[in-house]
Amino acid sequence: MDKENRLIKNLKKYFGYDSFRQGQEEIINNILDKRAVLGVLPTGGGKSICYQLPALMMEGVCLVISPLISLMKDQVDSLVENGIAASFINSSMTSKKYKETLSAIARGKIKILYVSPERLENEFFIEFIQGIKISFIAVDEAHCISKWGHDFRPSYKLIPKLYQIIGDNLQITAFTATATKEVRNDIIKNLELKDPFIKVTGFDRENLLFEVRKPKDKLSFLKTYLEDHKDSSGIIYASTRKRVEAIYRYLKKQGFSSTYYHAGLDEATKKKNQEDFIFDRKNIIVATNAFGMGIDKSDVRFVIHYNMPQDMESYYQEAGRAGRDGEKSDAILLFSGQDIIINKFLIRKTSNKDYLINKLNNLQIIINYVNTSECLRKFILNYFGQEAEDKCNSCSNCLSYFKKIDVTVDCQKILSCIYRLRQRYGVNTVVACLKGSDSANAKKRNLNSVSTFGILKNVSEKYIKDLIGTLIADGYIGVSGIEYPILKLTKKSKAILFGEKKIFIKEIEKADRLKEKEKSPDIYDREDYDKALFSRLKKLRLSLSKERNIPPFIIFNDASLKDMSIKKPKTEEEFLNVKGVASKKLSQYGDLFLAEINDFIAEKRSKDNIYYDKLK
Ligand code: ADP
Repeated sequence: MDKENRLIKNLKKYFGYDSFRQGQEEIINNILDKRAVLGVLPTGGGKSICYQLPALMMEGVCLVISPLISLMKDQVDSLVENGIAASFINSSMTSKKYKETLSAIARGKIKILYVSPERLENEFFIEFIQGIKISFIAVDEAHCISKWGHDFRPSYKLIPKLYQIIGDNLQITAFTATATKEVRNDIIKNLELKDPFIKVTGFDRENLLFEVRKPKDKLSFLKTYLEDHKDSSGIIYASTRKRVEAIYRYLKKQGFSSTYYHAGLDEATKKKNQEDFIFDRKNIIVATNAFGMGIDKSDVRFVIHYNMPQDMESYYQEAGRAGRDGEKSDAILLFSGQDIIINKFLIRKTSNKDYLINKLNNLQIIINYVNTSECLRKFILNYFGQEAEDKCNSCSNCLSYFKKIDVTVDCQKILSCIYRLRQRYGVNTVVACLKGSDSANAKKRNLNSVSTFGILKNVSEKYIKDLIGTLIADGYIGVSGIEYPILKLTKKSKAILFGEKKIFIKEIEKADRLKEKEKSPDIYDREDYDKALFSRLKKLRLSLSKERNIPPFIIFNDASLKDMSIKKPKTEEEFLNVKGVASKKLSQYGDLFLAEINDFIAEKRSKDNIYYDKLK
């Protein structure tokens, strides 16, 4: 059998999938060729299979270094569900279980072993792994080794010690979703990867619909959205603990099934709340950014940012927790001017001087994201260094019902005011001048002697600020000086000032509704699934999850249930054709799900017969 077929066959056998996602096959081939690898795939891109599949095809045990205990447990549960010999070792296990696991490894019964980096300080463990065959090392969340990454973990630096312990020809592979060059180079350097195969896949997450909203009242936006998405599971991120609790209280009062999470809660509450979400006992979790790493829940249908995060990296990583199963999902950012103030405050509070400028620069980029009038997906992909079409037809800028308004003259006024103020002031002074303000600040700076004083006095301050925001985002105004940003003209400004370029803003006409996305065969035709059957299969999944005490998405994710609701399999063979069904899942759950589908069809038929009888 040729190599490609062998890989696909194993992918189906162990994971139930028919084709690889972008980058997976190449990475796997390189691992099988014994090369060091750095795989950079977006969150939800399918990193795990990149090391899990070759681990099953190679001799020995694959040691996976993973930062979080919760992550290990989910990963192992999900592998075991697929009949794969996987286990973990961590501080949460009893000594009996620990001994049993070591013995299983020694007997060659385990193919994939998850450990935390701290485990590499344990002498007993180090001695133990010297006595077994290690196929290769997979470093998950490898950006934790870089101090430029947002989750720096000093203990990741222990990993290269493994070369001395196991031997120079040890194969190390590393995976991350973080794309910046600094982080990538740090990973290669700190993990001492020798001549690694580097694969950076496209960053697009096609199934996510990106939205930026600037609602007057964020809570009532949430309420309307959540009422429309009653049975869906979703995460709402907010920037502070206080805000998280306030949103949670509001949702609870409105009767939404929700829970919350932040670093200020005690361990037991954190665990309970997290599990309530993962086990579908609660649909919504409101959380700070402390929640998420290590959450593999694949059927998260929406991620809403109640506040703008501090940078695009964190935003994309958090938003990417929606729709890991490849099904259509929403990534919504709610913005208000207040978010900029809070973020600046938080950044100044927590960053040392070296990082401050870097952080404020990153903040400006995400401010540009919320203000851009162009395609949001294009903005994101360009940020990650990737080319993109001008329109994606799947973001709020491409899909809103906009009224186009010509604002060229107002923009000319703003730009000439910046020029007249000799490009020495920030937003507030420029706005004060345009509005003809008589504040103390305006008087002190003698703004009324400038020729542009008061030339926009008839419009609101918010309108001028929004316009300045858009001009910055689209490169017509530059910003210099990070602590006290000063507005400057750019090369592009001339075109507006000389009337060669017209500027339009898009005012949303129907704020509550987006246009239907044009159908793309992969994701959107799948919306034709039988919704009634889907919801019945979800109930069955939930009851099995309770019975067996494993999260529902580990039994089958939404993508699999939807596929069942389209294909309506009748035989075991047909059931194996469902996305995500491998042989172990067939033997474990096949009969239950086949029976449910069968009952559903029979009931529907008898209902239809009654209907037709009446018609006769
Ligand atoms: P991440 O890159 O964020 O670690 P995961 O490895 O958790 O992503 O994968 C996300 C989801 O995608 C999982 O539910 C996984 O089973 C699924 N997945 C991975 N590879 C494929 C594939 N080739 N076809 C379909 N689904 C896949």
